[in-house]
Formats: sequence, C-alpha cells, structure tokens
Amino acid sequence: MNLALLGSTGSVGRQALEVLDKPPLVLTASKNAALLEEQARRLQPRLVCLEDESAGRNLKTALADTPVTVRYGAESAAEAASFSGADTVLNAISGVTGLLPTLAALNAGKRLLLANKESLVCGAPLIRKAREIIPVDSEHSAVFQCLQGAEPDSVKRVILTASGGAFRGFSREQLEQVTPEAALRHPTWRMGKKVTIDSATLLNKGFELIEAMVLFALPYEKVSIVLHPESIIHSLVEYTDGAMLAQLAVPDMRLPIRYALTYPARKPAPVRPLDLTAQGSLTFAEPDRETFRCLALAERAAQAGGNMGAALCGAGEAAVEAFLAGRVGFLEIEERIERSLDNTPLIENPSLDDILDTVEMCKRAC
Ligand code: MG
Repeated sequence: MNLALLGSTGSVGRQALEVLDKPPLVLTASKNAALLEEQARRLQPRLVCLEDESAGRNLKTALADTPVTVRYGAESAAEAASFSGADTVLNAISGVTGLLPTLAALNAGKRLLLANKESLVCGAPLIRKAREIIPVDSEHSAVFQCLQGAEPDSVKRVILTASGGAFRGFSREQLEQVTPEAALRHPTWRMGKKVTIDSATLLNKGFELIEAMVLFALPYEKVSIVLHPESIIHSLVEYTDGAMLAQLAVPDMRLPIRYALTYPARKPAPVRPLDLTAQGSLTFAEPDRETFRCLALAERAAQAGGNMGAALCGAGEAAVEAFLAGRVGFLEIEERIERSLDNTPLIENPSLDDILDTVEMCKRAC
C-alpha cells in the first residue's frame, strides 16, 4: 500500500502514524508547519502539502535541503489526494475543507479511508461510490464490521452509539454557563477540538447519522441513535430476524484506523484489550434532544437532504469557532445553526458550487 495521509498533524493523522506499517508517500496539513516539517524530515515522503500559503513558502525553503517536494495553497490537499504514486488515501482532514480532497480521491480511483465526516455530510448529493469508502469514524467502522457478509435486504436498522459528550445529564441552565475548557474535556475519547465540541453539543452524532445514511445507503428511518456513556459498544446492526451484532473495544481511535488500513485483514494493534469483567456493566438510554437541540437540528437537515447538510456544516464550523474564541455561549451554537437552516433555501439536487456557496453563506451569517 502506498498511502497519502491527508491531515497528518491532526489527532487522527498522528494516531495513524502510530499504527502504519510503512511511512506515507504524501503528508498534508492545514496550518501546523512545524510538525509537518518534523514529520517530513523523519518519514521522507515524496510530497508534502500545506494549505496555508505563507507558511507553505517558508516550509519549501526549510525543506530545500531534502528531496521532498513541497506544495501549498487551498488546492494542494486535493492535489495530494490524486497523487499518482499513491493507491490509498486516508482523509483525516478536519472540517469542510476535506470535501474536495475526498472527491479528488474518488475521481482518481483511489482506495479511500475516510475519517473526514464533513465530506459526507456536505457532499452527500455528490458522492457516487460511497459503498467503496472504508470508514474510519469509530461508529461507522463498527457498523462496517458488523455488516461483513450481510445481505443488504437483511438489515433492519443501524444503531449508532453516543457517549453523550462532556455535558451528559446537564440542564439547559447549566449549559448556559459552560466554558470552552470544560467542553474540551471529553469523558472517553481523545480527539481534535472541533469534534470534541461537536460531541458536547451532540452535533457530532447528527453528522454521524448523515454519514451512516451515505456510507451504507440507508434511509433516515433506518438509522437510530442510543446513548451509551461507557463507549465500549461502538455501534450495532439490527437484522430482520431480530439479531443484533455489535462491535466492542476500548475507546481508542487507533483501532478503527488500523482496521481501515489493514482491511479485510486484521492485524495486531497497540490497543489495550477489553476486560469485560473489569468493565462490569454497559448502559443505554435515549438521547435528550430537548436539552441538546443540535441533534434535533441535524436530524432535520438529514431528512431535508440536498444542501442542508452543507448548511449544517458551515454554520456549525463558524459557531464552534466563535464559541472557542469566547465570543458566544454554548447554547448560541445551536441558535446559530437553527437560524442558518431556517434561512437557507433548499436545493434538492445541488451542484458542487451550490454546496460550497451554501457552506460559505452559512459561515458568514454566523
Ligand atoms: Mg465518531
């Protein structure tokens, strides 16, 4: 396997480097030039790409004493995704900027391992070969594993588990007061900032609902969500005969990353084994959509389809950025997303330009 690792300086990218058998041929990052340079010197890829232009120019000078090619700019990640020397692309970019590289990888006929959920949430109407994508998101990896060997007609529904995030059990009054620091303390998972805040609002689970609909070609009615605070069952498939299959493991992203990289084989991963008796009990509950309204808003976007996923992503990115910068409170994240969904005209079969325009409009409006 010759890998292009997109988003190598982020949380999934760094964990992927811990479980790879062979260094990637391509590395990309958005802004973190220092870590990208360190990775390039250590791993000697053929190509590195940085989205940020001025930092990219400096990186090119810094790596001039090495054989590594440096590209930079907004289009460089999509160029990396179609790099001719790579047969496999792991898209671990965070956010909507992952969409164009996903489309580029699919168009170039690469094997795509996808951690970037926004590609599917925004790009659902444009994704043609969804069944060939190997999911990296832990829930979708679990579903993918539980679906091995299944006949499509035998699937009754998919059940995504949700930890409930940092504020599970909080009231609206308590949520009013929470800080970015508290929201960034996820109880079970080690992840990047954006997805950790999205977990605290449950927007992440709404994204994952749409992601499951696209990946597994399921209608809205066939994807359910259940709270499971222990994060041991990563998701389930219920079959028409009433059987449910679940995938269990300790919460460690290196396992779904490793599985995507080695699929269909299973190879040892540096993950602590799950001790069932030490774990004791596993619990389940209905998510609280009245307190965590982002989930209900994402469900509304999932049912509407078209460009509404793009509205959800654009508004979500801008609102979370404002929350992390201390400009708005936690509950304003959902208010801003709701306003964007209300104000975005539905385009049922959007083009790529329609989708990118919707994202930009909703970002600006937030
Ligand atoms: Mg997930």
